[in-house]
Amino acid sequence: MECRHELKATMKDPKRCLEDAADLYSYAYDASFGIFQPDLVLQPMSTEETAAIVKIANIHRVPLYPRGRGTSLSGGPLAVHGGVVLDFSLWDQKLEIHPDDMIAIVSPGVLTGSIDTAAGKHGLMYPPDPSSAHVSTIGGNLAENSGGPRGLKYGVTKDYVIGLEVVTPEGEVIRTGGKTVKNVTGYDLTKLIVGSEGTLGIVTEAILKLIPKPVATKTALVPFKDLVDSGKAISKILTSGILPSKMEIMDQSSLLAVEEYEPLGLPIHAEAVLLLELDGHPEAIAQEMEVVEKVCLDAGAEEVKVARDAIEERELWKARKLVSPAIVKIKPTKISEDATVPRSKIPEMFRRLKIIRDTYGVHLVVFGHAGDGNLHPNIIADQRDAEEMRRVEEAVGEIFKAAVELGGTLSGEHGIGVMKSPFMEMEVGKEGLDMMHRIKRAWDPNNVLNPGKIFPEPGQRLVLSNE
Ligand SMILES: Cc1cc2nc3c(=O)[nH]c(=O)nc-3n(C[C@H](O)[C@H](O)[C@H](O)COP(=O)(O)OP(=O)(O)OC[C@H]3O[C@@H](n4cnc5c(N)ncnc54)[C@H](O)[C@@H]3O)c2cc1C
Repeated sequence: MECRHELKATMKDPKRCLEDAADLYSYAYDASFGIFQPDLVLQPMSTEETAAIVKIANIHRVPLYPRGRGTSLSGGPLAVHGGVVLDFSLWDQKLEIHPDDMIAIVSPGVLTGSIDTAAGKHGLMYPPDPSSAHVSTIGGNLAENSGGPRGLKYGVTKDYVIGLEVVTPEGEVIRTGGKTVKNVTGYDLTKLIVGSEGTLGIVTEAILKLIPKPVATKTALVPFKDLVDSGKAISKILTSGILPSKMEIMDQSSLLAVEEYEPLGLPIHAEAVLLLELDGHPEAIAQEMEVVEKVCLDAGAEEVKVARDAIEERELWKARKLVSPAIVKIKPTKISEDATVPRSKIPEMFRRLKIIRDTYGVHLVVFGHAGDGNLHPNIIADQRDAEEMRRVEEAVGEIFKAAVELGGTLSGEHGIGVMKSPFMEMEVGKEGLDMMHRIKRAWDPNNVLNPGKIFPEPGQRLVLSNE
């Protein structure tokens, strides 16, 4: 890289330039597949440093890969064409809560969970709650438009971003939106940047909307003998006029895995359990829970176990939190998908997933944010078994196909990255993909920012290996 010295000179502190083999290797991964080593890692901690790097990279056509904490499940921050990883995780100094405006102003490396904690001190809440909130950055969440269990009632990251500071792929600094909740001045560039997976701009500051924190919550665990009945119950609860703050599902394989990992007394004979939370005024949610109980029992639930206090509530949610660590005890490789379907199609999606599991003989576990149709079909496999991985690749392709055929989407929250780009055209069509390409070219004429993501490269197919 001929401009290495120029790039390194942008860092005020040389310790924030990493180029040892060991350092470079540790930035070659994220939480998905593939190992792609960058040529250099820079850790910018200001807008000026970031803009200076981008200007140099744009002149010399050096690929840049923004990175938060590398928890992406779609390969988003991987250096697939070599070049420079920009690690923003050190830049977490700015976390301002402005209670009177009900906003937070944050730098890109702030952990998402910290924003909600800081807002809570003022009786406010930052609702987006990816399960990775304690380890992922707001920059990464903005780029992926991350969601979480509370997305059912409160929406996802994009619903809470009202303003951004962005370094463009040519190194200019722009501001989008602002501090007001309403803003219709011109094109909504804020929303275009959110979810663009670090391909259109680098977020250097975000202004986030906060909302009042609900005073109370109530949680229930609802086991079903039949997985498809649990899907029907989800739709019935929502059409009964009640909007739970969370509605998550765990299938029998998830329950078994969690019980094996840490016995919690889960109903492992059930084909699925729903875990739901209501929030609001204590009297209102007590009445709503009665309605939920009736609806679930009518839909075939065995019982509705309502947590009596905060300790029992925490115990029930612990089961959901343990699914991910528990299932990797079965086999070491976890392919975590987030195919999402319209809510009425949840029962049909379950049926299709059962067929895919049997056809390809894969260990398929389903859990996730069922209330908004954002299921997480996870396949547990062993990457060392090439034959098994071939079956897994086919099964994953079939999962995407099923979701799109049912009117759904390839990704509800994990993004396209490298992993799902071969399937993009299937969902958005040739013309749709071409329009996205044109936007990318207009913003980033030299294809400097996060190349190799979202858009399929010629002949690209899904490969789940680290070769
Ligand atoms: C155990 C686990 C649970 C998870 N649970 C959820 C969940 O419930 N919901 C959910 O949505 N996701 C979830 N994820 C996925 C992941 O945590 C999110 O995608 C998260 O937003 C990534 O944040 P990060 O800081 O790790 O970013 P990275 O993984 O480092 O990067 C992600 C993307 O953001 C871009 N990026 C990073 N910083 C910037 C910036 N400042 N400007 C522009 N682009 C940038 C990168 O280029 C990349 O494309 C989970 C992951 C794990 C491992």
